[in-house]
Amino acid sequence: MTSITTPANFTELGLIPPLLARLTELEYLQPTPIQAQAIPSILAGGDLIAGANTGSGKTAAFALPILQHLHTQKPLSSKSSKGNYVTGLILVPTRELAKQVADSIKSYAVHFNGEVKTTAVFGGVSANTQMLALRGGTDILVATPGRLLDLISSNAIKLDRVKTLVLDEADRMLSLGFTEELSALLALLPKKKQILLFSATFPEEVQALTQELLNDPVEIQLQSADASTLVQRVFTVNKGQKTALLASLIKQHQWRQALIFVNAKNSCNHLAEKLSKRGISAQVFHGDKGQAARTRVLDAFKAGEIEVLIATDIAARGLDIEKLPVVINFDLPRSPADYMHRIGRSGRAGEVGLALSLIDVDDYHHFKVIEKKNKIWLEREQVAGFEVAEVISGASSAADKPMAKPEGSAKKKHKNKVQINAHIWRRNS
Ligand code: AMP
Repeated sequence: MTSITTPANFTELGLIPPLLARLTELEYLQPTPIQAQAIPSILAGGDLIAGANTGSGKTAAFALPILQHLHTQKPLSSKSSKGNYVTGLILVPTRELAKQVADSIKSYAVHFNGEVKTTAVFGGVSANTQMLALRGGTDILVATPGRLLDLISSNAIKLDRVKTLVLDEADRMLSLGFTEELSALLALLPKKKQILLFSATFPEEVQALTQELLNDPVEIQLQSADASTLVQRVFTVNKGQKTALLASLIKQHQWRQALIFVNAKNSCNHLAEKLSKRGISAQVFHGDKGQAARTRVLDAFKAGEIEVLIATDIAARGLDIEKLPVVINFDLPRSPADYMHRIGRSGRAGEVGLALSLIDVDDYHHFKVIEKKNKIWLEREQVAGFEVAEVISGASSAADKPMAKPEGSAKKKHKNKVQINAHIWRRNS
């Protein structure tokens, strides 16, 4: 693992003036830790593995050096080569992320006067428009694996001239079942290339992929870059009272934007209806919505026109919603890794954010698993007016008791009553 002190500015990282000028305009005053560590290594040309959450500034960490390579290795491929070439390939797990990463890259390249062509391709929309966009090739291609394979089979693009491959959110890509698509794509790449792999977590399949693919990579592991700016809290609530508690919190705090996670598409609509009956208007975001509707809702949410958005985990990855003040787990995510991805939507790039989980007795055990896997421990709190019944039923064994600290905890012995340890979160807090 590298340990480099964070340079005070981007100039020290060796970036060229057109990029530096743009970063100043964007008010990126200082590199984030991942940028400080990744940019010099990528510029030096080696492979890289980086453990970084979304919100850490990882897009710029890989995009800036790729753009710099393209700019300095003139003449650009687009002018020197014919055909449907691509030089920098970025594979991402979701449509939204593809669009978002491509938009960021285009924004970073504004002072290149159009000499770097960036294209995004993803499923859910017509392939024809994307084929047209790929005519004559593209310098940078941001793609979801399935659509990219379709476009390759239609001869719309070839991967034999790729110089840099980025696997963004590799863990998500594999957990979404893109393993076969990924292998098919990797087989089409030239032997000599730079590979940059970004992943929030490193389950076995990601480790296997890195061992198979990467050549003597620099490894960067950040200690949860945004941990200090994100406050995580857990509220216990009686079964059947989650909606009432949620509505009360929303009304009381009047959050500018709140992203609420549930586990199923129909739960999104169901919860929206229940909130509506309580006078709160909410929009939903899930995989059954068409791409156009998803983009519309997301844009409105980003613009602050929608205050409450209820989403499935499809929104947990990669979506870059600036300064989201609060993320709420109405349903707990099934996997501990998804918990980190969900809460990563808040407290981004140095902004203070709040990640709330509402747990009833059925969630206690699962929340402990989430904590254990993510090496966190949060104090169970209660909200005044929504105190849980004195003894939590369902906590059948000592290990399951809701207030139990992890084994080996130095904290004093817990009691089997939630109220004794829990904070009461006052309505005016
Ligand atoms: P990412 O992790 O790439 O999704 O980036 C998260 C957010 O941080 C995006 O809104 C970026 O525009 C912003 N960002 C990235 N790098 C910096 C920086 N060095 N200074 C300020 N904001 C940044």
